[in-house]
Amino acid sequence: MGQAEIGLIGLGTMGAMLALNIAEKGFDIAVWNRTTATTRAFHAGAGELAERIVPTETLEALVAAIKPPRAIILMVPAGPVVDDEIAKLTPLLSPGDMIIDAGNANFHDTDRRAAAAAKGGPRFLGIGVSGGEEGARHGPSIMGGGEKADWDRVAHILRAIAAQYEGVPCATHMGPGGAGHFVKAVHNGIEYADMQMIAEVYGAMRDGLGMAAEEIAAVFRRWNEGPLHSYLVEISSEVAAARDPIGGGPMLDMILDRAGQKGTGRWTAIEAQLLAAPITVIEAAVAARNLSARLDERQAGEALFGAAPQRLPAGMAGGLTIDGLEQALICGKILCYAQGFAMIGAAAKAFDWPLPLPEIARVWRAGCIIRSAMLNDMATALTGAPERNLMFAPAFAEKLKATHGALRQAVSVATLNGLPMPALSAGLAYFDMMRTARSTANMIQGQRDFFGAHGFDRLDGANSHHGPWGSHAAG
Ligand code: NDP
Repeated sequence: MGQAEIGLIGLGTMGAMLALNIAEKGFDIAVWNRTTATTRAFHAGAGELAERIVPTETLEALVAAIKPPRAIILMVPAGPVVDDEIAKLTPLLSPGDMIIDAGNANFHDTDRRAAAAAKGGPRFLGIGVSGGEEGARHGPSIMGGGEKADWDRVAHILRAIAAQYEGVPCATHMGPGGAGHFVKAVHNGIEYADMQMIAEVYGAMRDGLGMAAEEIAAVFRRWNEGPLHSYLVEISSEVAAARDPIGGGPMLDMILDRAGQKGTGRWTAIEAQLLAAPITVIEAAVAARNLSARLDERQAGEALFGAAPQRLPAGMAGGLTIDGLEQALICGKILCYAQGFAMIGAAAKAFDWPLPLPEIARVWRAGCIIRSAMLNDMATALTGAPERNLMFAPAFAEKLKATHGALRQAVSVATLNGLPMPALSAGLAYFDMMRTARSTANMIQGQRDFFGAHGFDRLDGANSHHGPWGSHAAG
């Protein structure tokens, strides 16, 4: 083998699978890992792909093994480790060589690194990779950020290893600097929300309707055949169906209800606030994970206030049906994605990034965790009208008209019976606010003018922009 086409640093869960994927697509790849034993074990276990993989034991050897101008993927933990690796690699590289951070970087870090690259040093791309271990091995969804010319240099490799949706690779350049990692963060925020909404309807079935895990598995399996067809609904049915290898009962019933996170949902929520972009469903999902972690307090709360009913009274259960929950989930999902895409649109304006919304929906159709049938329709709806909120696209407006009643029914019955549905409730409130032409913000404006003389616009267009508060106003 001559020099490799590309290099990769970090043979952990994701890096190892990406390297095998790259080799399988016919590209020779040189790899290096901090722990040499891992590199050796990886190469030894690569089977027939080993002949396309060059294992190296020093960074110098890695660099020497790659054809110039070089491209080296970093698949290491986000944060300072990425900066360390860039600092170690930089003196070894030649002009035109490129570092590609494929981890879950905060997009502000990627912006900073891209700006440093623009001032000299190696070229730099930040790419968001979604799909977990399986995706990395057989086809992830790839959201690229950086200079377009740098992306174009490696796009043939990234498109080849990406998931394919009806022959179209799920790998797209989103814009300069941190654009790719920004889109990945919003993807992860939507992932949090999708998972939370599924967990909420699971709760309605478990605690409201008293259904057993295997019955719930069957419901998710059936839903996965319809409009909710998606990876997350599919795996939810498998999680609910699995048996505990120790006790023999449903695995789900033995899993501690304390959700972990790596913080990408939180980044999305923080960024949405900075952009003044309402993503209330995602925010509710992030908060729900944080609340789930407070197990001791929840236990104390249950002891003090009493648990929510374990099962709805017979009369109430009639208001909560499996079909109704399916419709509610469809409605919540549309509203959540409408918020997420609107946030991306706000970022495109604020950061002057292209962020092609229909393309983003397209790269999410396969390979990534939020892949679903609905994303194809969203890509169609966003094409030609990317600035329009998805909820106003005719196809989705019709779906919302058909399902918001079910969402209201599910949230109302759940709320009356103490079953929390924070993400679905947030979606419903967003829907109601978005169809209220005369909101209650006139009161906010009156209050602001009273205490701070901030002024207000009048409905009749008259000139007075302050209220008659006189000496009562605090000023
Ligand atoms: P792992 O923990 O499995 O692997 C981490 C890799 O980084 C290992 O090769 C490790 O080397 C190396 N590493 C750790 N610390 C250092 C260091 N200080 N210096 C040099 N190398 C170091 O992580 P993942 O593969 O899961 O994740 C990698 C990146 O991909 C992260 O940014 C993650 O957020 C992102 N990601 C992960 C996904 C997933 O599903 N796991 C999905 C999408 C993105 P060593 O063998 O020596 O420990």
